[in-house]
Order: sequence, then C-alpha cells, then structure tokens
Amino acid sequence: MNQTGIIWTEATWNPMSGCEKVSAGCKYCYAMTLAEQKRGTAAFPKGFDLTIREHKLKEPFKLKVPTLIFTNSMSDLFWDQVPNEYRHKIVDVIEATPQHEYQVLTKRPENLLKFSKERKLPANFWAGVTVEANLNRNRIRTLQEVEAEIKFISAEPLIRELDLTDHTDGISWVITGGESGNHLWDQTICDNRALVYYDRSEKKWKPRPERMDWIRNIRDVSIDKGVKFFHKQWGGNYPEAAGRTLDGKTWSEMPRYPGQKQEIDNAYLRHLESGGVIPKGKKEQLLMFSV
Ligand code: SF4
Repeated sequence: MNQTGIIWTEATWNPMSGCEKVSAGCKYCYAMTLAEQKRGTAAFPKGFDLTIREHKLKEPFKLKVPTLIFTNSMSDLFWDQVPNEYRHKIVDVIEATPQHEYQVLTKRPENLLKFSKERKLPANFWAGVTVEANLNRNRIRTLQEVEAEIKFISAEPLIRELDLTDHTDGISWVITGGESGNHLWDQTICDNRALVYYDRSEKKWKPRPERMDWIRNIRDVSIDKGVKFFHKQWGGNYPEAAGRTLDGKTWSEMPRYPGQKQEIDNAYLRHLESGGVIPKGKKEQLLMFSV
C-alpha cells in the first residue's frame, strides 16, 4: 500500500504488476516506463512482465482507517495474462474489507464483464474503464453491461475529443485529465496528444483553448446527466504543470467516500486545496507500508 500523488484516491495497492499496451492511450504508459527502468531490481525483478505479489494481499487488512484504494495502478487486473484464480483472490480481499472502497480501472472491460458473471462484484468494488477518445467508447458500452454499484470512466490521458452524451447510463463518476511526462517537450508529440502547450515567452505550460472545450463538453454532459465530475489535471511535463482549474474553479466531485455514504472531497484534496488536515491516523497508516 503506498501513498500517491493521484488526487482522486488516497492510496495505491499493487498485489500484482505488469501489462501490455492495448491502445493509443498506453503509448507513454508511466507504469511500464517505471517498471522497465527498474527491471532487475528487488522492486521490479521482471520489469513490466507479469509479477504476482501475493504477500501484498494482506495489506488492506492492516489499514485500519477506511480508505479509497486505487487497485493495480501498476497493471490491469483484467489483462489476459493474469491468472483468473488470482483475480478472485484479489476480489476476496476486497470483499473481506468493506470498510475500504477499491477503484479498479481497466482497458479490457470484456474480461471484467466475463468475471462479473462468474461472481457478484462486492459493493465496494468500483468498476472503471479508461477511455482516451471517441474511438474507445465501446469500452463504456461493455462496462454498462457489468453489474457494479459504482461504475466510472477515466478519460485520462484524453488525447482526442470524447462525446459522452449517449454514454452515461449507469455511470456514477467521470475523471478527466491530460497527458503528462517529459515526452511532451517534443513538439510533435505535444501537438498530437496533449491538452497543453508550452508558452516559451512565459516559460509556462498552459491549457490549449480549443482542447479545453473537450473537457468542458465532458463536464457539461456530466452535470446534465447527474454524473459526478472530477478534472484531475491539464498535464505538461509533470501532472500539475498547468494546474487543474477549469473556468475559474477546480472540479473534485466523488461518488462517495469510505465510511460515509455521501459525496465529499477526499482527504488529500482537502489537504492540498485548503490546508485541511488528513484525518488523524490515516497518513501514519499509509506510511506503514513499504513501496
Ligand atoms: S492498459 Fe494501462 S497499465 Fe496496461 S499498458 Fe496500457 S496504460 Fe499501461
């Protein structure tokens, strides 16, 4: 269990790692880059090849404070190579720790759908798909067939327009975000994929006005359809390089929060934005676990 800079969650849990690229959004996969850089080390002996970390199955039980947990930030639980019995072990842990909420994202919703027919997904299993462009909206259609209490869409990195007008039935939450990383210093890549540009005179990353409209459209559809909306970042050489404000405010809606069945910003958001404090004991709990 790790602390994380991903502001729509509170902790990451990686009981496995490894994946393969599946579509354009994967091109600069941060998880793959990190794991391959560390190939041969104790943390990633096999780089981004499938690595089962069974000892990590115990971690959520040790975390006493109800927590939002992004599950498998370093892989895709529904990648074909993941043994199905190990998927079940992970979901057994999720089911046995209802005090936590688990955010599970995939680009392979057909495998998620198949799995959801094998066993009922626990109420604290948030089923999400990553969708980077209109071209990948079929993932949402498949997600809509899955039975899960919370279903969500992560449009990050958003690299083309995404019209969700007819794609919100049964969806509780939409996250948006632009690409980030040092590869965006390459002008061609930046022009092709980023929501931002680098203003050389001001030495600042800024949102591209015409691509801000992509996010506005998603926000407006979300509001119109009663879907919670969270804009995470515009992107740049690092995630917050151009901030995350849209039309003068930050958008941080969540479908619910662990331990409280109500809408509330998460602890890190309160901490980052208003100087609020992380709930007593939570930070210490998260720091207990090794990377
Ligand atoms: S599906 Fe996710 S983890 Fe897998 S390669 Fe693509 S971006 Fe990386």
